[in-house]
Amino acid sequence: MPTSGGIWNGLTGGKAIGCTAVQVFTGNPRQWQHPPMEHETADQFRAAWQETGIAFTCAHDSYLINLAAPDAEILEKSRRAFRRELDRAEMLGIPWVVTHMGAHLSSTPEEAVDLLCESMNLLLRETEGMSAGIALETTAGQGTCLGATFEQIARVIDGCAAHPRVGVCLDTCHIFVAGYDIRDEESYARTFDSFGSVIGFDKLKIIHANDAKKPLGSRVDRHEHIGDGEIGMPAFRRLVTDPRMLHAPVVVETPDAETMHAVNVDKLRRMAQEDCGPMKVKVRLFGHFSDYADALELEVPAGATVNYVALTLASRDARLEGIDRHCRAAVNEEYSDTTATLHEGDELAFIPPMSGG
Ligand SMILES: [Zn+2]
Repeated sequence: MPTSGGIWNGLTGGKAIGCTAVQVFTGNPRQWQHPPMEHETADQFRAAWQETGIAFTCAHDSYLINLAAPDAEILEKSRRAFRRELDRAEMLGIPWVVTHMGAHLSSTPEEAVDLLCESMNLLLRETEGMSAGIALETTAGQGTCLGATFEQIARVIDGCAAHPRVGVCLDTCHIFVAGYDIRDEESYARTFDSFGSVIGFDKLKIIHANDAKKPLGSRVDRHEHIGDGEIGMPAFRRLVTDPRMLHAPVVVETPDAETMHAVNVDKLRRMAQEDCGPMKVKVRLFGHFSDYADALELEVPAGATVNYVALTLASRDARLEGIDRHCRAAVNEEYSDTTATLHEGDELAFIPPMSGG
């Protein structure tokens, strides 16, 4: 969302057009230097966040940052700038900073991936204890840019030992122009089955829903309004109702934000609600998770899975840390796997592994 006049305006502007998830820049994306963030600004942002009830916020890093740059000076500058991105996000309470994976320029993709992993591990060590994480965005693969294949992104995740503060942001326009077709049922299934097996849906933290002005495999990154581009409406309907991805907040980066974001967001929401309008499930929590609550009722999209509920809970409160990874789950008192689909009125129980013994 545009943030002119103050970063909190991204939230109030988003609320005004019915958004529940908002992405902002925390600094000018075309500059290296930003004045340090004032505590007053952070307070105002957090107040607006509370007031608007926006469910999710993420930040996008500066376009100048290249954490895989072969030039030592640019690399160092990028690392310092990204550190400040993480610091600003932490001050604002923003859980993810979305970043492009950089470009290999004069080096090779392999060398660049190694360098990127080194940068990320360094940043993760430096900011140990912080909550703000790094979400690697799938890219269009223009020029020497990294991040155009799921395999390459998986290599970087491995290179960071699958750190919990490393996630993925999937951009539909980028994957499409990078060569991943999603236009019909078969190609959609092929692409997202591959995403699931190569990267894993648990790593998916954010979706950028953008249609594409340029054709499949063109490697040209031009965003189009939802349904008006080369990708088309059926893919977006599948995406916003896909049980494997319901946990991931969706943001649009389509043109003409001031006038058209409302229209694009509305298109996506309608499709999501028509096919998976909300239903209620009961959740019971055991072991140390019951410090948060013994029982609660959750409104979830129809078609939501056990994993959706676990990820939603994990993002709510630090006391629920690990509920998505280390728990046994039971649906209506029967042990269940995390991909099981839930139905209205189901009772779900999360049981942590035995401690001690
Ligand atoms: Zn994007």
